[in-house]
Amino acid sequence: MDTSCSCQTCGKYFSTANAYTNHLQSKKHREAAARQDKCLTVDVQQLNTKIEGKMKNAAQSNNEMQGDPRVASSFGDMEASGGVSDKDIGN
Ligand SMILES: [Zn+2]
Repeated sequence: MDTSCSCQTCGKYFSTANAYTNHLQSKKHREAAARQDKCLTVDVQQLNTKIEGKMKNAAQSNNEMQGDPRVASSFGDMEASGGVSDKDIGN
């Protein structure tokens, strides 16, 4: 089956290239293509909004971790041990 004469936008198949070309130039196809472009744009915007929401949630959980005194003290230990190893390398 030759799929080169099919319009995936409209889900239509054409037996001749001429009929396919005529369809691409038709108002019906242009309207369908415009509608599909619009839908894709909306999907991308919704996706970006979801990603932004996840990033905000991640930032909030990071703040909560730093606010936890146990986590803060362990961070301090890591910095102290890191400073010692730096001196060792210097010698
Ligand atoms: Zn079409």
